[in-house]
Amino acid sequence: MPETILVVEDEPALRDTLTYNLKKDGFAVEAVGDGRLALESARKLKPDLIVLDIMLPELDGFEVARILRKEMTVPILMLTARDDEIDRVVGLEVGADDYLTKPFSMRELMARVKAQLRRTRLLREELSNRTPEKKHETLTFGNLVINLTRQEVILKDEPLPLKPQEYQLLLFFAEHRGQMLSREFILERVWGWDYIGDSRTVDVHVRWLRQKIEEDSSNPTRIVTVRGGGYRFEG
Ligand code: CA
Repeated sequence: MPETILVVEDEPALRDTLTYNLKKDGFAVEAVGDGRLALESARKLKPDLIVLDIMLPELDGFEVARILRKEMTVPILMLTARDDEIDRVVGLEVGADDYLTKPFSMRELMARVKAQLRRTRLLREELSNRTPEKKHETLTFGNLVINLTRQEVILKDEPLPLKPQEYQLLLFFAEHRGQMLSREFILERVWGWDYIGDSRTVDVHVRWLRQKIEEDSSNPTRIVTVRGGGYRFEG
């Protein structure tokens, strides 16, 4: 069965182009032009992914994402028209999985769509492969294993010494694999609301962590930097 994509875009020309290209690649597509219809369609259709424009009639994309986030775990790829929207997209309040800034090429859009769907599939497989009793014991990402019970990390079969804060950060990344996480969100959740510091703290710890878990820390593949101010753990 083809994967289903809901396209929410109020510009008819762009909506048609998106629909045409996604269908050409074998996806089932439903396209709507305002935020209220987006909610209705998402609830009815239960799509595998939503391409969501921000400036929309009725309800804007931020509002649509915020509401849907509470109801379903569907990946959301947001389309932004202005740089000042990116902060909100990346941030905690909206929780988009990825975004594209207009204008973008169809090739780029297709690549992002497929990457998101691949992540979701992998995540689903991982969850279904884990037996209930093992569920909270270890998290495995290739040669990197986090033992939750013993709070230790194994890299290439060797114990990897981490400072407590590095361990907490890695664990947070692991639990949010594939999600775009802003520095502010990471700081809040790993260091806590009352932490006195700024988001450079996150950058510093990410650098340390990369030196320990990346094959080449200057060209990271596990913890990647997201344009607009955040990080994403690829596994
Ligand atoms: Ca629009």
